[in-house]
Amino acid sequence: MSANPNVEGQVFEPPKPVENMKIGPAKALFHGEITQSAFWPFPKIDAEQKEMLDMVVESVDRFLADQQDAFGEWDAKGEQPPEFIESLRELGLFGLIIPVDYGGIGLSNAGYSRVLQQSSRHDSSASLTIGAHSSIGMKGLLLFGTDTQKQQYLPRLASGELIAAYCLTEPGSGSDAASIQTKATRDANGDWVLNGEKIWITNGGIADFYTVFARTESAGGKISAFLVERDFPGVSVGKKDGKLGIRASSTTSVGFTDVKVPAQNLLGEEGKGFKIAMSILNNGRTGLGGGAVGGMKHCIELAAKQAVERKQFGRSISEFGLIKKKIAQMTIDCFAAESAVWMVAHYIDSGYSDYSIEASISKVFASEAMMRTASESLQIAAGSGYMKELPYERIFRDSRILTIFEGTSEILRLFIAMSGMREVGNLLQEIGSAVGDIFNHPIKGFGLLTDYAGRQITHRTSLGQDRIVGAAGSALRDDALIFEKYTLELGRMTDVMLRRYGKAIVDKQFVLQLAADVAIDLFVGLCVIARASSMPDDDSDQYRQALSIAHQFSQQAKRRINRNLRAMLRNEDENAKSLATYICEVEGYPWDTL
Ligand SMILES: Cc1cc2nc3c(=O)[nH]c(=O)nc-3n(C[C@H](O)[C@H](O)[C@H](O)COP(=O)(O)OP(=O)(O)OC[C@H]3O[C@@H](n4cnc5c(N)ncnc54)[C@H](O)[C@@H]3O)c2cc1C
Repeated sequence: MSANPNVEGQVFEPPKPVENMKIGPAKALFHGEITQSAFWPFPKIDAEQKEMLDMVVESVDRFLADQQDAFGEWDAKGEQPPEFIESLRELGLFGLIIPVDYGGIGLSNAGYSRVLQQSSRHDSSASLTIGAHSSIGMKGLLLFGTDTQKQQYLPRLASGELIAAYCLTEPGSGSDAASIQTKATRDANGDWVLNGEKIWITNGGIADFYTVFARTESAGGKISAFLVERDFPGVSVGKKDGKLGIRASSTTSVGFTDVKVPAQNLLGEEGKGFKIAMSILNNGRTGLGGGAVGGMKHCIELAAKQAVERKQFGRSISEFGLIKKKIAQMTIDCFAAESAVWMVAHYIDSGYSDYSIEASISKVFASEAMMRTASESLQIAAGSGYMKELPYERIFRDSRILTIFEGTSEILRLFIAMSGMREVGNLLQEIGSAVGDIFNHPIKGFGLLTDYAGRQITHRTSLGQDRIVGAAGSALRDDALIFEKYTLELGRMTDVMLRRYGKAIVDKQFVLQLAADVAIDLFVGLCVIARASSMPDDDSDQYRQALSIAHQFSQQAKRRINRNLRAMLRNEDENAKSLATYICEVEGYPWDTL
């Protein structure tokens, strides 16, 4: 299967670098604006990368297909055998994103995400062993390491002689990552001494190289990042954690007791560790997103076969409307997630400086879509799906982690909404002070007001809006109009909410969640339309069905957005909050029909 069969034959033209844009495309949505050049033309990988990618994808496919029966056994046992890890090394799968100069394969972010898609079609745990190494374990070294650090570690990480893990989470610090307690103090020689415990570390038990985050006393208690080898005295690895899913993937605690870390193993600047930790996660999100897309493709394949083969009431169940509806929805979700993940990977590859909101959107959408798809494919197989002989129950269990690690869906939704609204809030604040400032600095004051008034006129009349109907083409004109209309609505509603709540918006989590959901639908929908409209009209079923997916997604998004925007105005938070407070007080459900 080619990397992206639907856009064959197009000339490669990456999205415009962000320097040409004042703000990123997702933030722009909160301003009521669509940055057309960030979506059109839908990106395509260049020929050289594609050739390399096809080879890697094919070898991953061939190798993992041979292990099919073993994946169930390793899941039951809760570990992958060393020979399997050795085969991953031999295939070069630990060097996917490491530059060729350091012995890796040097794939782009898009190429890497596509490989993880393929490995996840076979087994989530296998994919995670590869993914945790590249997406987060050694990504910090790649992004922030010095030449000396890279020369010291990257060749061994590329060959898989060293396997990497990312150590941020602690017993008292999960989503609130800034509260970590692991400490790093300087000794008399200027080296560091690390003390603390990290938990639930993917690859923890098999890794030899850890990116560890710790609080450095010398920089006012700020967080710093360190490159730590397992062989450093004082590093200990706990026993493997028993888990719901991804059971064959290694998850353990990693302890640090007076671990001496050489001064040169500080990663990036002292005190910048939190930013490094978040940059790694943002950059790695397309790996997880690619994995989710691969899982969905596998579920769709399984469901399609099952639906055709299974006969009830004298007919194949694929003939029943309710089964068709599920298969169609799984396909729409997969196409949408794939489009968004691919787009974000290209933002990263094109040198966008800030893609954090877009990456978070693609992670939330793809991981939740995968969870729905795993559940629905199991439902189609029903009783057989529940049994261990078939892979559905394992896929269902494996998918559950996706909305938890590398940022929970809740935290990412808050991040998406707050980051998107912050700029609008800043602008409103500046306008507030400009009104007072107008007599002292008339030019600056009037300038801001004129700019804002211009935006408001744009929003009310939609004049001057960067129209996308032209780019979307006649086949998708009506769908493009939906996204133009509702982008303006999000801009208006952001303004209304910020005026209503001011700074208190940070505590209005219901509103923030609704705003994030609108932004997710808009961003993902624009990716879908851009992709479908960039396909060559070859009169094929594949082309026609892709247009149909775009229509169906647009209609579904329109209904969801309408509902979410209305709910933002209604604001029923207080009743729900009061009910939840009561239930937490009584510690359970107090009613009974007896
Ligand atoms: C299998 C597995 C592998 C993992 N691998 C790694 C790894 O390799 N490296 C690593 O460092 N970590 C890893 N983790 C940890 C993972 O990243 C954390 O579990 C995740 O960040 C959430 O933290 P928590 O589980 O402590 O949940 P908590 O932070 O305790 O959150 C509990 C619930 O409250 C919600 N919540 C929290 N704060 C807020 C808020 N302000 N507003 C609204 N809701 C909120 C959360 O969304 C969640 O639903 C792994 C975890 C698992 C289960």
